[in-house]
Amino acid sequence: MVIVMNPNAKQDEVRGIVIKLEGLGCIVHVSQGENHCVLGLVGDTSRINISQIEAEEFVDKVMNVQAPYKRANRLFHPEDTIIKVDDRTIGGKELAIIAGPCAVESESQLITIAKDVKLAGANFLRGGAYKPRTSPYSFQGMEEEGLRILLQAKKITGLPIVTEVMSVELVEKISQYADVLQIGARNMQNFDLLKEVGRCNKTILLKRGMSATIEELLMSAEYIMSEGNENVVLCERGIRTFETFTRNTLDLSAIPVLKKLTHLPVIVDPSHATGKWWLVEPLAKAAIAVGADGLEIEVHYDPANALCDGAQSLKPEKFKTFIDSVRTIAISQDRII
Ligand code: PEP
Ligand code: MN
Repeated sequence: MVIVMNPNAKQDEVRGIVIKLEGLGCIVHVSQGENHCVLGLVGDTSRINISQIEAEEFVDKVMNVQAPYKRANRLFHPEDTIIKVDDRTIGGKELAIIAGPCAVESESQLITIAKDVKLAGANFLRGGAYKPRTSPYSFQGMEEEGLRILLQAKKITGLPIVTEVMSVELVEKISQYADVLQIGARNMQNFDLLKEVGRCNKTILLKRGMSATIEELLMSAEYIMSEGNENVVLCERGIRTFETFTRNTLDLSAIPVLKKLTHLPVIVDPSHATGKWWLVEPLAKAAIAVGADGLEIEVHYDPANALCDGAQSLKPEKFKTFIDSVRTIAISQDRII
């Protein structure tokens, strides 16, 4: 951390802050320039409250040179994290292909789609039982009945279940049915929820908030990990920009950036990123080409009558050709589907 003092800072003010910082366990190097006095801090700066330092009138600015996330940081864990879920992995050589409908609508709907996506090459089944809808009048999900159907589909196909948890109170219940708990974009900074899933023993799929920076996403992962749960998968699902043609703008550069900054697996959801079924395949291929560890894809056999997100859903036959096409890119990256 570097602290730049105001040009008119007095000697005793500099001395006072140096003593205070040393008291917090840092070594402080003082450099007196022509106009500015600059303090260089070495050691553990985690106990320093930056905004309190910035509030001092004799301080010009404070710059953090180290990332504020530790457990998620690749510096402290150079190897890629490979997460095991049942007999599958996320982050290893094999890509994680999480596919299924946006929402569980009925037993026959989910089980039909589950069998189809498995045949095509998916290794996880997704389906929302509790849905975060923009309108309170839209379908809100089948709730616990939806969870029972997801478990039924797992018994038939063997595919581990990925489903969203929206509130602290539901973490325990959903953990009884699901293998991977999804934290949706709208809850990426629901810190109570992050802490709660940090105390459960399930893998967490953490989606990037629609207006969140890469560092904010990593800080949310840090919340989960700081409670003891290190099994966190990050998901880029598009961010809000001025462009309105697509539902969101897929931030493809976030993938290699995240892979550089963190050891956690990174997957991409081109369905919610684009909102259009015909854009899912080109962006999925791009995502794998830039190093994603997997994909989350919405699939529905009757998109025109889907209760949620039909316009971005692939039909099962399209999903099969989609997988074949993504596989060619996967091979070029030394990955397998
Ligand atoms: C979803 O995956 O069903 C979903 C609602 O995604 P997001 O939170 O990314 O909008
Ligand atoms: Mn959806």
